[in-house]
Amino acid sequence: MKNRLLFLGPPGAGKGTQASLICKEKGLLHLSTGDLLREEVSLGTQLGKEAELIMNKGELVSDQIVLSIVEKKLSKSSQGWLLDGFPRNLMQVELLEKLLKDIHQPIQTVLLIEIDDETLTHRMLSRGRKDDKEDVIRNRLKVYRDKTSPLVNHYMDLGILKSINGCGNIEDVNNRIKEALN
Ligand code: AMP
Repeated sequence: MKNRLLFLGPPGAGKGTQASLICKEKGLLHLSTGDLLREEVSLGTQLGKEAELIMNKGELVSDQIVLSIVEKKLSKSSQGWLLDGFPRNLMQVELLEKLLKDIHQPIQTVLLIEIDDETLTHRMLSRGRKDDKEDVIRNRLKVYRDKTSPLVNHYMDLGILKSINGCGNIEDVNNRIKEALN
């Protein structure tokens, strides 16, 4: 199986849960920019304080901040990795492609988890994270549509995109992902 992966999909699609499962099974480094940013917030770092204000509105944190977080982790990894929640716009795609070229580790497969807005909203509301309030959720879905969804065509054009249906329970979705990645 490929060991340099990217999970793409709207907020609430189950990327984080499914990425954790795949990483555990395959021994990959799980790189979730959302988790790494929340870690900075809980540590109360300067970066965390700046990021928190933006995250609470459901907007995107600056490309440079996110890139610097990813760069530190990726350059240390030798066992393969899974990117979850990054890149999130076309500028981040460009920055990431340059970084991966420099370390000779191109992405092998992009997995798109597809799911309808109603299920997403329901899932996020039951999760209860600080940015899981109705108005913030609406904005995060808009940001996804406007800024992140163009990445689907980009990776499709590169011929490395696979998509699966993200509805159903964790195990069913996990099985679909394993099948798609085989
Ligand atoms: P997530 O856990 O992936 O849903 O991310 C939670 C929040 O963290 C997002 O709504 C953004 O504010 C911020 N964030 C996470 N990843 C990125 C990224 N790649 N670029 C910009 N902001 C991000």
